[in-house]
Amino acid sequence: MATVNTVLGPVGADKLGKTLVHEHFVFGYAGFEGDTTLGEFDPEAALQTGIDVAEKLKVHGVKTVVDATTNECGRNPDLLRKIAEKTGLQIVCSTGYYYEGESAPAYFKFRAGLGDAETEVYQMFEKELTEGIGKTGIKAGVIKLASSKDVITDYEKMFFRAAAKVQKETGVTIITHTQEGTMGAEQAELLISAGADPSRILIGHMCGNTQLADHVRVLKTGVFVGFDRFGLEGVVGAPLDAVREAVLIGLMGTGYGKQILLSQDTVNFWLGRPLVLPPVVQQMLAQWHPTHIFEEVIPVLKKAGITDEQIDMLLIENPRRLFGD
Ligand SMILES: [Zn+2]
Repeated sequence: MATVNTVLGPVGADKLGKTLVHEHFVFGYAGFEGDTTLGEFDPEAALQTGIDVAEKLKVHGVKTVVDATTNECGRNPDLLRKIAEKTGLQIVCSTGYYYEGESAPAYFKFRAGLGDAETEVYQMFEKELTEGIGKTGIKAGVIKLASSKDVITDYEKMFFRAAAKVQKETGVTIITHTQEGTMGAEQAELLISAGADPSRILIGHMCGNTQLADHVRVLKTGVFVGFDRFGLEGVVGAPLDAVREAVLIGLMGTGYGKQILLSQDTVNFWLGRPLVLPPVVQQMLAQWHPTHIFEEVIPVLKKAGITDEQIDMLLIENPRRLFGD
């Protein structure tokens, strides 16, 4: 049985238990570091929020959360370790970069102009997965990749190829961000053609795409897909949950349930200044919270005839297979 690096050390994939594969304990849009005075980081508040979220998840039997925050968006392995130590929740930390439009592309673009940045990205992934992140001693357990709406840019492709190389050498699991569920098949094909193992790839945010044909095209490559933005409705191009649920139930009914994972992509603590949401956005995001799947989504699935066994497949068995056998 394969092991997975959590922030407190390796665990067997069979010990992951009920898993949310794409959440954020903290997240900041690249550039938040520049808002130095009014956006100053409050580590105590972030820790307390993380503990509260972990405790709420534990009530629903969640054992493991994959924190999908990328390196330049405020990923914080020390904070994740403290949350894990205080609550017993297993947390997997990512290594990776976000998509070009919302990332911090200047750094590796500059380096690419001078030399072989793809090899440098490869070295970064490899070191953070096998030796640890900075001086923390905490190893990343997953690679996070991302691409833009309707295109995988040359900048983004560099990260995909570097990740496939590391995946071949280490067996590490790759999770992705698709923008509005576009380019899912292209992401899978790019990784697989560069040598990555489809059974270790999760194409994320596919629930942002309501076209069944696009889902089937991705699923046929043998990868997993994420219905991992439940509760994020009507903003950033996201569909309503009711539509996500219809697509999910349809795919499960046609035998693709073994390749689907659930999560919510919640951001539990925003880096930079506190977020001020206009009332209309607050209303749209009312369901976007860490236990939404358990409280509001699973009841809908059950009503449609999805069994407890199938729900365990989505939340326990599929994460185990994504990270393990
Ligand atoms: Zn995310």
